[in-house]
Amino acid sequence: MFDPPPNAAPCLCCLHPNASRMKISKLNRPYMACGQCGSKTFLNSREALAGQALLAPQVMALLDAWRNAGGQIEAAISGVEARIKVAAA
Ligand SMILES: [Zn+2]
Repeated sequence: MFDPPPNAAPCLCCLHPNASRMKISKLNRPYMACGQCGSKTFLNSREALAGQALLAPQVMALLDAWRNAGGQIEAAISGVEARIKVAAA
């Protein structure tokens, strides 16, 4: 039996940093439910689980970079790209 993680996760719909939680449906399938925007995202494959794990930190990094760049999206995206290149090296 799969145990959902107790920690909250970023919501990929409204981008709230910790309002989304993994739950298990009545059909025993994992989904993310957001307490902020009310979205429910079903994760029906291993690929969907991987996307959630990989994208959530990147979304939060983009928001941080955007905030640090004073709202200039081009500078924020450049900063995230630079951090991804450093992480991949
Ligand atoms: Zn949300």
